[in-house]
Formats: sequence, C-alpha cells, structure tokens
Amino acid sequence: MKARESNLPVDAKRIADTIKGLARITEPDRPYTRRAFTPLFLDGRAFLEQQFKAAGLETRIDAAGNLIGRRKGRRSGLGTIMLGSHSDTVPEGGRFDGIAGVASALEVARSLSDAGVHLDHDLEIVDFLAEEVSIFGVSCIGSRGMVGLLPDGWLSRAQGDLTLRQGIVEVGGDSSRLASQKRSDIRAFLELHIEQGSVLEKEKCDIGVVTAIAGITRIEILVEGQADHAGTTPMGGRRDALVAASRLVVAIEKLAIELSKGEGHFTATVGEFSIEPNAANVVPRGRGF
Ligand SMILES: [Zn+2]
Repeated sequence: MKARESNLPVDAKRIADTIKGLARITEPDRPYTRRAFTPLFLDGRAFLEQQFKAAGLETRIDAAGNLIGRRKGRRSGLGTIMLGSHSDTVPEGGRFDGIAGVASALEVARSLSDAGVHLDHDLEIVDFLAEEVSIFGVSCIGSRGMVGLLPDGWLSRAQGDLTLRQGIVEVGGDSSRLASQKRSDIRAFLELHIEQGSVLEKEKCDIGVVTAIAGITRIEILVEGQADHAGTTPMGGRRDALVAASRLVVAIEKLAIELSKGEGHFTATVGEFSIEPNAANVVPRGRGF
C-alpha cells in the first residue's frame, strides 16, 4: 500500500530487526516457542525492554504484568493513545503472531522520535502479558487485568505450585494492586496483527481493518449409544454412538456452510472427538465432542 504524504516514514529494517531479535529467543527444538511465565519469555521481555529504552521510551511493568513503554505527551490530562500486542507465543506459534504488533508499535514511537514529533496525548507501547492461552489455561491475562476484567477466581488458578497471582509477580507485576491500577485513561488503542486466516492473502490485499471479532461458543456434545459385540450384534439391532455422532459432524458442517453465506462471518468446527470404549470389536457406546 502506498503511504500517504502525511504519513511519517517508518524503517522496515528496524521492524524486521526487532522481529528477528525476538525470534532468536525460542525453545531451540520447537521454533518459535516463547510461552508466557517461562524464563524464555522473560528473556524476550528483557530484549524488548532494551529496545523500548533505546527508542527513548520510559519503561515499566504494570500491576497486570504488561510491559509498557511511554512517550509523554505535550499536554497532561488528555489521556493515552496505546499501541501494541503480545510477545508470548503458543507452542510453535511462529515469528509474527503478536510480535509484529509490538514491533510495529515500537517503530511508530521511533519514527515520531526521529521526526521530532510530539503528540498532545501520552503514547504507550504495550506488550500484553499472556495473550495466548497460558499454562494457567486462560488467555488475555494482561489486557484483562489492565482494565479490571480478570474474572473472579482466575488469580487462584494454579499450574503445579505456581498460582496466577504469583506468576504475575514473577514477571514483575503486582497482582495485589490490580484494582488500584485499573486504567481509565486510554482514549484509543490500535493493534496491528497478522492475518490468521487466508482471506487477505487470497485476495492479494496488503492490509485489512477489523470491524468485528469472532464471538466464540464452545459446546460439548455427548452421544449415548450401546456397546455391543461388533461381530455378533446384527446391523438392525445396534445403537452405534459413533455412527450417530458422525452424522452430526456432517450436519454441523452443512449448516455452517449455509450460515456462512449470510451476512458476516460464520464458522463451526468439531475440534475434539473421543470414543468409548474405543475397541475394534465393540460397537461404540458413546462419543463426545
Ligand atoms: Zn496474537
């Protein structure tokens, strides 16, 4: 896409260098893996903090464990413009998911600084803590914590001996001050993110603007049948749960295809499946998905 004249130039190499620098900080056998709450994640954070500082940003970790780099505005009390994303990954998550958003946000701060532009508002570059599903089984911890939307009970979730409450402290946050540090000064927020589908690539579009986000509903279905001997039970006398479940899967896909032709975006996926008793010579008794 052609930059408008009024846009400040950005340095693609600097963005690439930040992305490459983080890509080097990965579990060696599973690139690119840098899970939140691991020593590698903290190494990535240290790299980012140093990059934030080099861009002239004032850095801190907030109560919810987010890394924030701040560029003070000319006028106090106007509030904050926030840009950013996340540096944690899912296992083998790739180099760009989240990272591209942090690196490009950082480049905005750098280019403002290079051009000597001072905004009226404070500008904050953020690396949210644990945007991906973490070892505690929940996601978007830092962003929820920042605005006071961590559900009750999440802080007590534990992985081994470590609770989320302690995990936040270990990354430099302060879970006891979440309520008092709840933000209400953010006037605008922008996250650049890689496409995680295939539409833009197929359409050969450089960039798209998100107008809505997928609302996820997860449903567990249990199909109850009857376990019988596979060799001796006649075909007419069976209650085979797997056969019924298979029809359901096909019907779900058919319905989803129909609904996806309507306005907006619609998908449905059967992503998990288990069979009981899962034996070659037994008619399946039950199947859940
Ligand atoms: Zn992401």
